[in-house]
Amino acid sequence: MALIILTACSGTGKSTIVKALMQRFPTLKLSVSHTTRKPRPNEVDGQAYHFIDHERFQSMIKNDAFVEWAEYAGHFYGTSHQVIQQAEALGIDLLFEVDVVGADALKQAYPQALSCFLLPPSWEELERRLRDRQTETEAVILKRLAVGREEVKHASSFDYLVVNDQLEMAIDDMSSLYRALKLRTDHQSQVLKVLT
Ligand code: 5GP
Repeated sequence: MALIILTACSGTGKSTIVKALMQRFPTLKLSVSHTTRKPRPNEVDGQAYHFIDHERFQSMIKNDAFVEWAEYAGHFYGTSHQVIQQAEALGIDLLFEVDVVGADALKQAYPQALSCFLLPPSWEELERRLRDRQTETEAVILKRLAVGREEVKHASSFDYLVVNDQLEMAIDDMSSLYRALKLRTDHQSQVLKVLT
C-alpha cells in the first residue's frame, strides 16, 4: 500500500491538484478526514470530509479513533484508523491531505510514506487565490495566511517540494512522485514474484 502525505498552505490549490490526481490514478484515493469545520458550499459530506460536531470529535479522540489529529485555524481535523484499515483491505493507495502536525505524525507512524509540501509561487499570489475563492471571511483569510507562513518553516523536513505556479505542471509533478513511489522496490513485490 503506497501512502502520500501532502501538506500545503490553505489556498495553494491542493484540492484541485488532488482531484486531478484521483482522476488520473484510479488506484489512489483521498483519505477522508473528520473535521469540526462547517462544509463549504461545494463540499459533500463523506467525500471532502466527514463533517462532525465538536462533541463527536472529542469522543473519537477519547476512544483512540485517530492515527493523528490537530487543531488548525480554530477547527479540529483528524485521520481515523478506520480509513487506513479500509484502504488496506481494498488494496488501494492513500493520499493524506494534512497540516504540518498531521504530516509529522503520519510520517512517524508510516516512515515508508512519501511526504510532499505543496508551495505557492509567492505570498502575494496565495493571498490573491484565497480572496478569489470567496468562501472565507477577511478574518479567516488573514488567519490562514498567518498559519501558512508558519507552516512553510517546516517545509525542509518533507521529502519533496512542489510549487503550484502553473497548475498543469504541478499536477504533472505530483503524478511523477506517485509513479516513482509505485516503482519503488517495496511496492513491486508482484513483479518480483513473477520473475524470481
Ligand atoms: P481546510 O479547512 O482548508 O479544508 O483544511 C485546513 C487544514 O487542515 C489544511 O492544511 C488541511 O491539510 C488540514 N487537514 C485536513 N484534514 C486533516 C487531518 O485529518 N489531519 C490534520 N492534521 N490536518 C488536516
